[in-house]
Amino acid sequence: MDFREQAKALQPQLLLWRRRLHQIPELNNETFLTAGEITQFLRAIGIPAEDIRPMVKGAGLAVTIHGKDTGRCVGIRVDIDALAEEEKTDLPFASLNGNMHACGHDTHAAMGLGAAKLLFENRESLNGAVKVIFQPGEELYLGAKAMIEEGVLEAPKVDACISIHGMPNLVAPGFSCGSISVTNGMPAFGCSSFFEMKFIGKGGHTAHPEKAVDPIFMQAAAITQLYGVISRETNPATPAVISVSYVKGGSVGRIAEDITIGGVLRSLDKKRNQWMFDRMATICKSVAESMGGSCECKMTDGVPETRMDPELLEIAKASAARIVGPERVVIQTEADLVGEDFAYFAERIPCVHIKHSQRYDDGPNDYYLHNPQYAPCEDSFWTGSGTLAQFAWDYLENS
Ligand SMILES: [Zn+2]
Ligand SMILES: [Zn+2]
Repeated sequence: MDFREQAKALQPQLLLWRRRLHQIPELNNETFLTAGEITQFLRAIGIPAEDIRPMVKGAGLAVTIHGKDTGRCVGIRVDIDALAEEEKTDLPFASLNGNMHACGHDTHAAMGLGAAKLLFENRESLNGAVKVIFQPGEELYLGAKAMIEEGVLEAPKVDACISIHGMPNLVAPGFSCGSISVTNGMPAFGCSSFFEMKFIGKGGHTAHPEKAVDPIFMQAAAITQLYGVISRETNPATPAVISVSYVKGGSVGRIAEDITIGGVLRSLDKKRNQWMFDRMATICKSVAESMGGSCECKMTDGVPETRMDPELLEIAKASAARIVGPERVVIQTEADLVGEDFAYFAERIPCVHIKHSQRYDDGPNDYYLHNPQYAPCEDSFWTGSGTLAQFAWDYLENS
């Protein structure tokens, strides 16, 4: 089975689904309207209600398409949540409710629906089952965990899973609207950890710094050294980043007692994050002590890296090539340290993630994900649906 032509024919429908979902963006594990609309769309495709399983209190759902009874099942996971920001595009189908699909998850939902339709229409010769998972709560890493705990990977048991993310930027040369990209084997997304360092000094009158111990002075000195952990102590070939993203504390009239800085560490594995944190803690403590204060340091886990299964990567490449042509399957060789909660699926079963170019080839929109003006290229959602369906098909044929 080659889904290219069938997928192409879906494009007008994909546009309608995407635009409808774009108008009703919802947050976290509260994507009830969105999940309701998706359920209606699935019913309109002809999928029986008993094959649609509402999950996370109705914020998400999993639909099983039953092909031949082979005992095999492959998953297609798409996320469906949005961001709490006001849309600043002039699109006629802009958000109506103050939230925004600024990460393009509306396009993922539409592409997942398209894949469901393609597979459902060809179910009689499908060599097993496909579970299409519409997941809430990706942005705050809530949804994947909730669905896994509720048993999304069971009944039927999911043997392997694919997911997709739209990308507005150039992952590599040739990544034009509708192209598909997979990694060269490295994780598709990074491992993130949150850190917080509390610098403790001694408060005092701003006219008498000599009688105080100023934690603002300490953190200023520390931040400039922290970035040296990457630029001076990390092999340049190792992807890693430290971002201090907040400084909290202080007031106008008084030298503060304490100041807290915090942010995110990212790399391709947890050990590297732990090493970065340990170095940062050493620096913060020694800077604070050298200035007469002290520092309390703590780290908490974000998401693990999203590991790719090498065999699934090969299937995904071949499946994508059948839809877009081999020249438009782009191999990503640079790390992407964004976090993704699809990582929790990939911790449990073999997984692969594909990136779908939603980049206008010559402008007009250059905004990145999460930007209130983000407006992805709408011309080629069919290549996303087609690749997801083709992958599921090819996996079941080959396993
Ligand atoms: Zn996002
Ligand atoms: Zn996203």
